[in-house]
Amino acid sequence: MAEKNLEEMREAVEAIREKMAAAARAAGRDPAGVQLCAACKTRTADTVAASAALAIDVFGENHVQELCANYDAGAYCGKPSHFIGHLQTNKIKKVLGRASLIQSVDSEHLLAAIEKEAAKTGIVQDVLLEVNIGGEESKSGVSPEQLWPLLDAAAAEEHIRVKGLMAIPPVNDDDAQNRRYLAQVYKLFVQAGERGYQNVKMETLSMGMSGDFENAIREGATLVRIGTAIYGERDYSKK
Ligand SMILES: *Cc1c(COP(=O)(O)O)cnc(C)c1O
Repeated sequence: MAEKNLEEMREAVEAIREKMAAAARAAGRDPAGVQLCAACKTRTADTVAASAALAIDVFGENHVQELCANYDAGAYCGKPSHFIGHLQTNKIKKVLGRASLIQSVDSEHLLAAIEKEAAKTGIVQDVLLEVNIGGEESKSGVSPEQLWPLLDAAAAEEHIRVKGLMAIPPVNDDDAQNRRYLAQVYKLFVQAGERGYQNVKMETLSMGMSGDFENAIREGATLVRIGTAIYGERDYSKK
């Protein structure tokens, strides 16, 4: 399957929006409380710019290089951009100012480096803490047990504001198992909010991708990150 053209993308986004709204209503939630983040890794700046006219709330980038290229080319057309990939400390400088939210903070080392750079720049950086809910070796994120010391560390930083959690549950054909993972993340999200830290506002729960966003919304997601279902299959041979 190739990349979609604008008309196909428009239809895809409309269909996703309808499913998002239906999932929210089924869970007794307001559809306006769930944002659509377009995960645009590997797409060209032209494709990203074309998709910006659609009902997408925010763009999510995995790679610093693509974030810089798309941001600097104006491809987001004024819509916000988030960083959702693994972030190396030596690239933080490029992300600050280009990503309004860093969704993927997964270590105290990274946290300290963001704090240092944000302080130097004179900004307060919004972040999500990433949880590796399935305990998968191949994935970033802290374990549920490691979340609490990471949250303590984040709450102590002056130039960082924690806005919520992000998670990528294991790919799973078992719908019930998928929902259990998502529900575990939601529980952590609620528990984190109950700790009552001043600079921790648990507002954003980022979980759900093309294959499981409806489940994620039923289990409490406030932001879903969708790539394939908007743009089509990714072609890694070009990059
Ligand atoms: C690629 C990516 C997505 C979107 O995945 P799709 O299955 O293409 O919808 C979501 N989140 C992250 C962190 C990603 O890297």
